[in-house]
Amino acid sequence: MNRFFYEAKQRTGQTVILQGDDAFHLRHVLRLQSGEQIELCGPDGVCHSAVIVDLAKESVQCRLKEELPDHEPKIAVDLAFALLKGDRMDFALQKATEIGATAFFPVTSSRTVVKLPAKTEQKVQRWQRIVRSAAAQAHRNRVPVVHFPREFIALPALFAFYDRVLFFWEEARRGSLASALQGIGPGARLLLVSGPEGGFSPEEAVLAQKAGALVVTLGPRILRAETAAIAAVALTLYQAGEMEGR
Ligand code: SAM
Repeated sequence: MNRFFYEAKQRTGQTVILQGDDAFHLRHVLRLQSGEQIELCGPDGVCHSAVIVDLAKESVQCRLKEELPDHEPKIAVDLAFALLKGDRMDFALQKATEIGATAFFPVTSSRTVVKLPAKTEQKVQRWQRIVRSAAAQAHRNRVPVVHFPREFIALPALFAFYDRVLFFWEEARRGSLASALQGIGPGARLLLVSGPEGGFSPEEAVLAQKAGALVVTLGPRILRAETAAIAAVALTLYQAGEMEGR
C-alpha cells in the first residue's frame, strides 16, 4: 500500500488534499484512480488508511478511514555521521531511515573528505527528500529530520539532549554495544556517532568521551563509514528489541 505524508494545513476534518510531487506521483507514476486506497500519515505520526475521492489536475482529495498501527521505534535513535561523498551519503540516509533512525546530523570532522559542500541548503533539501521517500517505502509513521551539517566540535553541545551517546570507534578494543545499552528502555533518546573513511582522530575521541559519550566497538573488522553508520542503527534497534514481530 502506498504511503504519503501530509502537513497539518493539508487536512480539514477527515479530508486530506495531496498536492505537488505527491499528487503528481500518485496520478502519473502510480496511476491510481478514485476509489483506490492509500495510507496517509500526519505530522503527529498518526497514520490512516484512506480512499482517493477526487483527482483534480494539481491535487488529489482523499478521505481518511481507519487509524493504522504505529511502526515507530519506542526509543529515538539519532545518527550523527561523517559527511560522505555522493551516493554513499544517499545510501546511508536511505538505509538508516528504513531501519528506524529518528534524525540525522551530518558532520564534518578533521578527516572527512567532504567539507561543507557548496549549496549546502540544496543538499540538505535533497537528502530530506531521500529520507521522506525511504520513510514512506518503509511504512514509517514519521519522516526523520536531516539537520544542517555541523562541525564535529559542535557535536558535544547536543549530548545533553540524550539519555546516552554512543561513539563508534574503530580503535576501541572494548566497549560492547550490549553493555552501552544497559538499562535503555522505551522513551529513551540515543545519539549514535560514527566517523569518516579516515576515521576519528584521537583528539576527537577524547573530546567525545570527555563530553560523556560511551565508546563502542563493532568488533575487530573495520567497516566502511556508511556500513558502520547503518550497522550501528540496526544493531542498536535490534539490541533494544525494536526489530521483532508487530
Ligand atoms: N580508521 C579506519 C581504518 O583504519 O581504516 C577508518 C575508519 S572506518 C572506515 C569509518 C568509521 O566507521 C569509523 O570512524 C567508525 O566510526 C566506524 N567503524 C568502522 N569499523 C568499526 C568498528 N570495528 N568498531 C567501531 N566503529 C567502527
